[in-house]
Amino acid sequence: HLRIGVLAFQGDVREHMQVLSALGAQVVKVRRPEELSSVDALVIPGGESSVMDKLVRQFGMQQPLRTAIADGLPVFGTCAGLIMMADNIVDAIIEQESLGGLHVDVRRNAFGTQIDSFEVDLPMPGVSEDLIPATFIRAPIVERVGDGVRVISQLQDGRIVAVEQGNLLGISFHPEVNGDTRVHEYFLGRVAQYVEKKKAKI
Ligand code: GLN
Repeated sequence: HLRIGVLAFQGDVREHMQVLSALGAQVVKVRRPEELSSVDALVIPGGESSVMDKLVRQFGMQQPLRTAIADGLPVFGTCAGLIMMADNIVDAIIEQESLGGLHVDVRRNAFGTQIDSFEVDLPMPGVSEDLIPATFIRAPIVERVGDGVRVISQLQDGRIVAVEQGNLLGISFHPEVNGDTRVHEYFLGRVAQYVEKKKAKI
């Protein structure tokens, strides 16, 4: 079994845990450094990135998380989780920090208040041949991608909503809420490859 951690300070923790368990992973909550070091990969859920950031720092997890990301741990960030992974938040609130590691600029709440939630069928080549229904909730977008970042999905108007950089996968939407598990399956596939590679090195 792959052992997948879900960063469990705030947000859609339970929903991710349910999807990952249903897909056969062993799932644990991560709030402490020793929990982080026990997992093969980490999911950072959606929620509220400024609150999540505060809790991460209060619990002394900012440095352990940054180190884990730099060391190549596979991390899947959704919505607020994508914001946490971004090197730069263009509209961070005062004192809000991200973990960084994913070389992108993100904008929070990028869709304004009238359409703060919507669902759209997204092309995600590499993840699925068919469109994937995606639920956006006060979602961020990726405004700039840096070196080594591959765009996985864009809205029809070109706005970037899914990216990958090495072991880091970041998406603007909430794949844990609508029963479509393809993005989680894709991530678990990437984690399995990573675990195999790591074993081969030992
Ligand atoms: N708007 C939230 C933030 O800035 C993200 C919303 C979400 O995760 N659904 O963190």
